[in-house]
Amino acid sequence: QVEVQAVSKSYNGVRVLNHVSLHVPSGSVTVILGQSGSGKSTLLRSINHLERVDSGFIAIDGELVGYRQEGDTLYELKEKDILSRRADVGMVFQNFNLFPHLSVLDNVAEAPVSVRGLPRAEAQALARELLARVGLAHKADAFPRQLSGGQQQRVAIARALALKPKVLLFDEPTSALDPELVNEVLDVIKELARTGTTLLIVTHEIGFAREVADHVVFMDQGRIIESGHPDKVLQQPDQPRLREFLAKVL
Ligand code: ATP
Ligand code: MG
Repeated sequence: QVEVQAVSKSYNGVRVLNHVSLHVPSGSVTVILGQSGSGKSTLLRSINHLERVDSGFIAIDGELVGYRQEGDTLYELKEKDILSRRADVGMVFQNFNLFPHLSVLDNVAEAPVSVRGLPRAEAQALARELLARVGLAHKADAFPRQLSGGQQQRVAIARALALKPKVLLFDEPTSALDPELVNEVLDVIKELARTGTTLLIVTHEIGFAREVADHVVFMDQGRIIESGHPDKVLQQPDQPRLREFLAKVL
């Protein structure tokens, strides 16, 4: 489970996260909606400690992200501890970010070897399993440039799963895809949801959110201004800003 508690963050004096609190129970799916610039990516990046928050805290399964606590004092973790802790959080980005010089198989097998110290043969066996799970067993020896965007994104998902993360974060995973490739990626995410992976997903795919999310939150100017069950939030929103947003994306 992910616990975000009263997190605030500014860039150059401008507040981009303003007292954000969010609870993502284990095995649940939360979708984050919001206009461009509302702070969605910053929130996801904070959960991974790619951003350092100014106040508040984030914990994953009870462990603070980026810090350790002694008495009342928080100490920031050392780089190597940050990296090993970061393995608890898988992240999938809009632009796939695969390693272009590695085969599909090695893209997925790389982190288990370098982060977890798995023997290469074991890591590759795991990678083959994960590629099969996203329907790409037959592309193991291809290179990223030889794949469609949808296939590349499915490799990115397999790669994120390879470290067996406690939570998987998706930042607009289908925004860079041609429309006809969106569903193959959403189907893989749905399957993860069905099998109980804890997911936090930024997306504008409202139909997907309605189908898959247990919880939907709407961010506006760095704050969560509405949240709840998708049936309520998406169909009877209270906030005018959310109504406007839904009218635009639907
Ligand atoms: P989008 O839908 O366009 O991806 P978002 O909701 O993900 O938007 P963020 O990327 O979290 O929004 O950005 C929130 C605000 O913080 C924006 O105003 C952005 O310009 C600003 N911001 C983000 N990263 C930085 C940075 N590294 N330095 C300065 N400002 C930043
Ligand atoms: Mg963003």
